Amino acid sequence: MIKTDVLIIGAGAVGVALARELSKYKIKTIVCDKNDDVGGDASKSNSGLTSTSATMPVGTLECKIRTISHSMVDNICRDLDIPIIHCGSIAPVLYPEQMENVPGLLARAFQNGVYDYEFLPKEDILEMEPTLNPNILGGIYSPRDSQVNQFLVVIAEAENAAENGVEFLLDCKVEDICVSNGRVEKVVTSKGEIEAKWVVNCAGLHCDDIAKMVDECDFTVHPRKGEFFVFSHNTPVKVSHIISSVPSAKTRGVLVIPTVDNNMIVGPTADDVEDKTDRMTTREGLESVRTQALAMVPGLRFEDTIAQFVGARPAREPEGYNIVVSKKALGYVGISGVRSTGLTASFALAKYIAHEMQEAGLVLERKVGWIRTRRGIVRFADKTDAERDALIAKDPLYGKIICRCEQVTESEILQAIRRPVGAKTLDAVKRRVRAGMGRCQGGFCSPLIIEILARELGIPEEEVRKRGQKAFMLADND
Ligand SMILES: Cc1cc2nc3c(=O)[nH]c(=O)nc-3n(C[C@H](O)[C@H](O)[C@H](O)COP(=O)(O)OP(=O)(O)OC[C@H]3O[C@@H](n4cnc5c(N)ncnc54)[C@H](O)[C@@H]3O)c2cc1C
Repeated sequence: MIKTDVLIIGAGAVGVALARELSKYKIKTIVCDKNDDVGGDASKSNSGLTSTSATMPVGTLECKIRTISHSMVDNICRDLDIPIIHCGSIAPVLYPEQMENVPGLLARAFQNGVYDYEFLPKEDILEMEPTLNPNILGGIYSPRDSQVNQFLVVIAEAENAAENGVEFLLDCKVEDICVSNGRVEKVVTSKGEIEAKWVVNCAGLHCDDIAKMVDECDFTVHPRKGEFFVFSHNTPVKVSHIISSVPSAKTRGVLVIPTVDNNMIVGPTADDVEDKTDRMTTREGLESVRTQALAMVPGLRFEDTIAQFVGARPAREPEGYNIVVSKKALGYVGISGVRSTGLTASFALAKYIAHEMQEAGLVLERKVGWIRTRRGIVRFADKTDAERDALIAKDPLYGKIICRCEQVTESEILQAIRRPVGAKTLDAVKRRVRAGMGRCQGGFCSPLIIEILARELGIPEEEVRKRGQKAFMLADND
């Protein structure tokens, strides 16, 4: 049986940030996830914003943790080589009714210590962002909101945690937790049993299912669906700030988001649904995104959409971040309610959870030689001709383009597969290096990546999967 000091359930933003934090200490940490890759569920299908706490409910744990975490983002991105753009955000005020909300929003931001969240007159806003509707009444400017590559946040942290000794068990679903004499004893998974002194539930949308296993579930979790459009790089009207609806209590509303990859995503909706597996876009959802986005940025060309996707926020009833260090099942720690803000908040949340565990008896003795930094895969597409020549001279596979739309080379794909916690499916390659994310959505490069994955993983091409257990790319005709 595998034995560990800490078992983290869930390799999303929260679980992996905690794993990296714990990798600083002389303990054994394992992360297991039912998925075939790190990156989580909500954590890989969100807006990628790292925002201040301007609009957060005042005085809540969520607000406190997000405020601290936001101040950590730049250092984490620098240390782990995660792309980030400091573009700021603008919430254009379109109607007189929205104007009535502005004083309340500014007062709340001030109470949350976000003093640079300001209302600016129409003329100034239009000069900063000429793509906006010329009939706006003004806008709220938030200069410290940024956009990161949300896939690489989790992948980079996982690679770094693995380099520092954390083990990742993927395709490994937790089915039960056994408690004996009031203490967590072992965890039953689809890959066998794991004996763990501490079990941390970072299972997002499924954290209630896990909490029930130790009788620590006095809440429910349901998906709050968000639908998005992805635009092509070549669309003529592009925003240079994050454009956001004037926020409401439930959501920040529809956003037009410039990304680190120089394209735009537009969305999300915020619809409460029952089914935790529902990832279908809907005509109504997308139409509502389109209407709201066009009201803010009338020139957007939705004809330039190349993909649509859905993310599901793990919305908790009652709402709010909740961290339980169990007294009934010693060693169990449950995290729930990390809904719309968890990408930004995960860095400080990890520290907070580790501290709570230490207070409850986990001995955290610092290792010597913990590796703080990780370097990303060098992207051919971002380089000048001279830099490209230098890359090819060092590694000729940088001269072989596999994904034409995004200019991704064979060298980058091999690195994505060969790194710690490497890619084993087409989607995992895509999230690491963007192969298949361009205009043709993998039409050209998929067969080539199937060949490379089969060769590298030592499996027949028929066994190469898009994602998950059953999504094989090729039919086996035998
Ligand atoms: C549409 C949308 C927009 C958002 N925008 C932003 C934003 O701009 N900025 C921001 O900061 N936040 C944003 N968020 C919120 C953020 O994405 C989440 O708060 C965060 O990703 C939650 O991370 P997590 O690790 O808790 O959950 P997840 O990423 O969902 O990870 C949970 C993991 O647990 C695993 N798991 C579940 N059950 C089991 C089991 N039985 N056994 C093993 N593994 C299991 C799952 O497979 C999954 O990998 C957004 C979310 C959505 C959906």
